[in-house]
Amino acid sequence: MNIEQAIEYITKNNVKFIRFQFVDILGFPKNVAYPVKGGEKGLEELREILETGVWFDGSSITGFVGIQESDMLLKPDLSTLSVLPWRPEEKSVARVICDVYRDEKTPFEGDPRSRLKALLEELKEKDKGEFFVGPEPEFFLLKKDENGRWVPADDGGYFDVEPLDEAPDIRRDIVLALENLGFHVEASHHEVAPGQHEVDFKFDNALKTADSVVTFKMTIKNIAKKHGLKATFMPKPFFGMNGNGMHCHQSVWFNGEPSFYDPNGPYNGLSETCLSYIAGILEHAKALVAVTNPTVNSYKRLVPGYEAPVNIAWANKNRSAIIRVPAARGKATRIEFRAPDPTCNPYLAFACMLAAGLDGIKRKLTPPEPVEKNIFKMSEEEKKALGIESVPSNLKDALDELENDDVLKKALGDYIFEKYLEIKRAEWDSFRISVTDWELNNYLVY
Ligand code: GLN
Ligand code: MG
Ligand code: MG
Ligand code: MG
Repeated sequence: MNIEQAIEYITKNNVKFIRFQFVDILGFPKNVAYPVKGGEKGLEELREILETGVWFDGSSITGFVGIQESDMLLKPDLSTLSVLPWRPEEKSVARVICDVYRDEKTPFEGDPRSRLKALLEELKEKDKGEFFVGPEPEFFLLKKDENGRWVPADDGGYFDVEPLDEAPDIRRDIVLALENLGFHVEASHHEVAPGQHEVDFKFDNALKTADSVVTFKMTIKNIAKKHGLKATFMPKPFFGMNGNGMHCHQSVWFNGEPSFYDPNGPYNGLSETCLSYIAGILEHAKALVAVTNPTVNSYKRLVPGYEAPVNIAWANKNRSAIIRVPAARGKATRIEFRAPDPTCNPYLAFACMLAAGLDGIKRKLTPPEPVEKNIFKMSEEEKKALGIESVPSNLKDALDELENDDVLKKALGDYIFEKYLEIKRAEWDSFRISVTDWELNNYLVY
């Protein structure tokens, strides 16, 4: 979309407000709205802000800059201009996703979107490569019970139908809203846990998909709110129930060709590139989860028994491994990395997944044999004999791994790497010194 097309879109859709949107280092969407004024003068003003962008105070954004350097610029990526379907139809609201700049010419090294963009451009320039991601974000719909606590909004389970599934109308509104935003929705269904749902959309290049994940979460939260419910992507809201994952299907193409398929390759046609990519993810998995599973709560999902992975292994069918290779071959050959959860900053998570996989390709790593047995049922000795390790069991251990991973450090860039570790270590510390319900339940007896 060029500026004139953007203006045409804005006029045609009766847009009254344009929100300039970006994410902070944790992936939370932030925005500032500009009203669209009428008349020739209004159009001139609009043209100018779409062209140069808008200035804002970066010092109040988590992970950005100090007050002594706070003026920053949001430069709109016009291809993302879209009317927000949950806002009024009359005098509508559109948003445009922006890259963050220090000034007109200098991209901000702490902007997660710019970081991913830079890595993807490097891949394209160096190797004519492209990175595709298809995420499966899961979420809960919650209602308040008589004590004011958030509880699952229904008692449905996997693929249930109404009336057990009490949310078909909400998912319907969600899917319609996502389609209005340009999503290619593939499927929607009730998930395993009570109140849990999944809506799947088609894979795309990693930048577009990361933008989509942010938009997706906003859409779901807003539509749920319109129905009087709360949507949460928290990884493990309830002990004893499945958590929210965001499995990431992914593949890399080189020279316009899929690189994960080789009709003569082992395992029914996996290429050497694919196997090395798998090996790269496995090699960096312990550090990678610090970015793909970034909260204290993330590690309460990564436990045996709830379809979430724990073991650093790969498999063709078995869902207890951290990587599964779906059966599809040819152009659709891809791997499914099952660790990520939807609290990750998708720009940083995709950047790190790519860097880990490419490191495997560059070093021509070979993965161990796939593990087709249920790893959750193996003894510690069996796992040890097969060399199967576990992901870190808490955020702190994951951050320690990240701190020592030079490949992921390079992918994040020094600025984000330092800030991220600082913020996440503070998050861990605040958890570490807090006193939980579990402790009161178990220790008041002393
Ligand atoms: N909720 C599971 C997880 O945490 C996934 C369940 C599924 O999609 N089969 O990863
Ligand atoms: Mg799914
Ligand atoms: Mg699922
Ligand atoms: Mg899946």
